[in-house]
Amino acid sequence: MITGKNYIGNTTTANGNKTFKTFNPQKNIENEWTFTEATSAEVNKACELATEAFKTYSKVSGAKKAEFLRAIATEIENLGEELLNVYCLESGLPAGRAGGERGRTLGQLRAFANHVEEGNWVEATIDTAQPEREPMPRVDLRKMNVSLGPVVVFGASNFPLAFSTAGGDTAAAFAAGCPVIVKSHPMHAGTGELVASAIIKAAEKTGMPNGVFSNLNSSGIEVGQELVQNPKVKAVAFTGSLKGGRALYDLAGKRDEPIPVFAEMGSINPVVILPKALENRASDIAKTYAGSITLGTGQFCTNPGLILGIKSAGLTNFVNTLAEEIVNIEPSCMLHPNIAGTYEKNKDKALSQNGIDVLGAHSENVKPNFAKQVVTTVQGKTFLENSTLHHEVFGPYSLVVQCKDEAELREITSKLEGQLTGTVISDDNEISNYVNLIHELENRVGRIIFNGVPTGVEVCASMLHGGPYPASTDSRFTAVGVDSIKRFVRPFSFQDWPNDLLPAELKNSNPLGILRTVDGKKITDKI
Ligand code: NAP
Repeated sequence: MITGKNYIGNTTTANGNKTFKTFNPQKNIENEWTFTEATSAEVNKACELATEAFKTYSKVSGAKKAEFLRAIATEIENLGEELLNVYCLESGLPAGRAGGERGRTLGQLRAFANHVEEGNWVEATIDTAQPEREPMPRVDLRKMNVSLGPVVVFGASNFPLAFSTAGGDTAAAFAAGCPVIVKSHPMHAGTGELVASAIIKAAEKTGMPNGVFSNLNSSGIEVGQELVQNPKVKAVAFTGSLKGGRALYDLAGKRDEPIPVFAEMGSINPVVILPKALENRASDIAKTYAGSITLGTGQFCTNPGLILGIKSAGLTNFVNTLAEEIVNIEPSCMLHPNIAGTYEKNKDKALSQNGIDVLGAHSENVKPNFAKQVVTTVQGKTFLENSTLHHEVFGPYSLVVQCKDEAELREITSKLEGQLTGTVISDDNEISNYVNLIHELENRVGRIIFNGVPTGVEVCASMLHGGPYPASTDSRFTAVGVDSIKRFVRPFSFQDWPNDLLPAELKNSNPLGILRTVDGKKITDKI
């Protein structure tokens, strides 16, 4: 049941007087529930409880954390149809997407459970003492990853489940041994509350400390800012716009004790179509890309917002087909009137730039909050000279840049801002003729794709979802897959520490049987 209250650990409270409602963009009406924004006192209480919980939760075994993570997945499943219904009412997304995203969320939680149960993620490294070493004896040193402390999670508007309350960031932080305080996304506060109730049930059932999780409502930026500035908070995970991510990153940097902000932000995901591919299959590529540009109403951080090619008959064929295909796709609903409004504003700004030509645009009347898709084109030189054209238009929009030659294509690629993904469409072995171009692209992105589309982010250990700034604030980490746990840990060394007092991961007997690097060798043996 949705109460509209905040979860401060195991207690629900609504002490504030600022309230708000979520919105049904399909029906263009407010939803029935009223949410109460967290007060400063509630923010502080959540942070205090999280710090208290950290004392015990950071020491909980991998097996117990796995039990907790699996229980969260089960409790989310137990929410049944109610969760999926609220998801659809608050996002305008179809039921199939709701079910799919729930599956992904459960899969992430269970993947982290397996990861911490197996235990190798602590990267235990042991250099045993060498008392006889000359000229100086060597001390015994043992290093492993330990948890950072309370983590604040800002969920994304466009993934109410998989990148939100119990999404990848929360699962990773729990797996790392960090309590989590979620700053609930105001567009899907009801979905968030239902998931929060599942997390609290799971925490109670598996004996986790009160304060291991809190969920705070807010409809403005104040609660999030207070959380980031609270001295008890030790790291932040954010998924959203460049503007929001950068503001929080700067705020965290100004604290007396600066903390890391792992912000995954917008991206235009350049797609380079090489000449032979254009010559041989321009129409097919255009059809595929019309689908990718409009998938999920273009509301994916991996949406292909920029397509690059060298002028040729093939490129003309590509833009003509893309123009035809894009208008035939039925417009769909955006997540919220604000997102739809920002799309219109950013689209108009892009369209008003000198040298921009519209290739194809859906022009018929659409229902409120539905997005009309547009593809545009520009010459390479104009693109290079106008940085506005390099910015994300979040929605079903893409720009085709027509380069005069390979040198211009390479120059554009080298001057792009950091991106989540880059895609190369190539035929035969032509890619091997573009080594320098590919090098430039690799330098600008976190993931490079061959003959595919950037939309669709597989959740697995080898996925890198991040990239050079501004795609993310720290390109060394991924926000998707089990390696995302590394954002919430720090390496820690014990020197000559008594064996009995060492954590199980570093004891001589290796009771957990994990893989450790002992005196330079990777082994599971005891010492
Ligand atoms: P958003 O406007 O940045 O909001 C995200 C969250 O941050 C909201 O809870 C918002 O709170 C809060 N926030 C924003 N600015 C803030 C500030 N200055 N101080 C404190 N809190 C602030 O983003 P969105 O509209 O939800 O999401 C769309 C964007 O996310 C797109 O740019 C998309 O590309 C990006 N995205 C990136 C990824 C990725 O993995 N890289 C994934 C999905 C989406 P309020 O709403 O209460 O103001």
